[in-house]
Amino acid sequence: MRGSSAACCAAPISVSTAKIACRNESPLFQFKILCPFASLTTTSIFTTARPFLSLSRSQPDKARQKQKLWEFNCATIPSSSTVANPSNDFIVVNFYRFVFINDPHEEVAKHLSFLKGLDIHGRIYVNEQGINAQYSGPSKDALAYVEWLREDFRFSDILVQISPALNGHAFPKLKLRYKPSLVQLEGGISHLPLLDPTMRATPLAPSEWRKRLKEVHDSNCVVLDVRNGYEWDIGHFHGAQRPDVDCFRSTSFGESDSEEAIASDPLANVDKEKTNILMYCTGGIRCDVYSTILRQRGFQNLYTLKGGVSHYLQNEGPVEWVGNLFVFDDRLSLPPSAYNPEDTTVPSSNPQGCKNILFANCYICGSQVSELRHRNCANIDCNLLFLCCMECVKDLKGCCCPQCTTAPRLRPVLPGNQRYKKWYMYRELEVQNELAV
Ligand SMILES: [Zn+2]
Ligand SMILES: [Zn+2]
Repeated sequence: MRGSSAACCAAPISVSTAKIACRNESPLFQFKILCPFASLTTTSIFTTARPFLSLSRSQPDKARQKQKLWEFNCATIPSSSTVANPSNDFIVVNFYRFVFINDPHEEVAKHLSFLKGLDIHGRIYVNEQGINAQYSGPSKDALAYVEWLREDFRFSDILVQISPALNGHAFPKLKLRYKPSLVQLEGGISHLPLLDPTMRATPLAPSEWRKRLKEVHDSNCVVLDVRNGYEWDIGHFHGAQRPDVDCFRSTSFGESDSEEAIASDPLANVDKEKTNILMYCTGGIRCDVYSTILRQRGFQNLYTLKGGVSHYLQNEGPVEWVGNLFVFDDRLSLPPSAYNPEDTTVPSSNPQGCKNILFANCYICGSQVSELRHRNCANIDCNLLFLCCMECVKDLKGCCCPQCTTAPRLRPVLPGNQRYKKWYMYRELEVQNELAV
């Protein structure tokens, strides 16, 4: 059930009032839980990103070819021929690797030194367990950093996911620093055996994953969505149960003890030795981390989708996938066709690739939504991401709940399925207005 409970709330949250999760460090993604009894926020993670294609050193020509392809063909990307807009050339890059780094502080200094003079914004974290990076920049600068990284043998074959940044930088500034946890999870992850590949799930190439999914019904198998519930709400693999998770840091599949938790835990009653667990997330890192926990808890047959859903959609198209993919930037969701404009399995009559959107419902009234994209609350101090039908948009003036409609700092109702800009832009505007007075 959607939002039947949340770790932060003493009382259960009803379907209609429990909304999304997570307050990220980045001002880009301000999510929070609203419940009838308290408005609480939790600092969160997000480590996944916005990949359109993956570059691997072994296939530079193919990668370059693909890069050209999205530059010119992808429906969601402005044509690179309109050179008047310099932001056309911006990309978002995402990569991570778990590898021992002897002196992470020195590593940080090295990276900072290389990036001096380059126009890179984003979050790049380093510690003894490796590196996790999401950043934006002009492609020349952004790719120069990848090339430089790959000169180091520890990162020479790192999977790099790239997507276009439609409006210039996707991050307000560069944060490159030592961070104790590369992914935020309750209890931390520094004690987890992340550097031992045998402790993580076995990575499956997208084609192999596709094959396995086709066999799911005939085998002892669970498809485990290792994301948040609100991500599942707009798109997921067939056969994956909606995760009862508002924020990855509180994920607890396979370790539920209360009756209520067991009811919503897809791993609660599976045979740890015999059942195949097929895990997926957006870009791969959440599965890599969480699979070590499951391994320690005795689950033997763990498999993960290498490079996550984004890598899959790029390689296989939307086969076995329903809906769009939630992404952690201001686009919020992308249709599968955006990842693979060449793919012919997407029906032309349905450019979004969403053959079935019946699964997606308005968080307010429960009716079907017409577009698989969250909006954010018109109350700037709420900014909650929520799925909403157009009727409820009208009734609640673009807000997520009746309380927000009377908040002091409301933004005008946006027509259609637009989303308000990054909240800090409004904040800055307000500061400027105050200064002007
Ligand atoms: Zn509604
Ligand atoms: Zn709100």
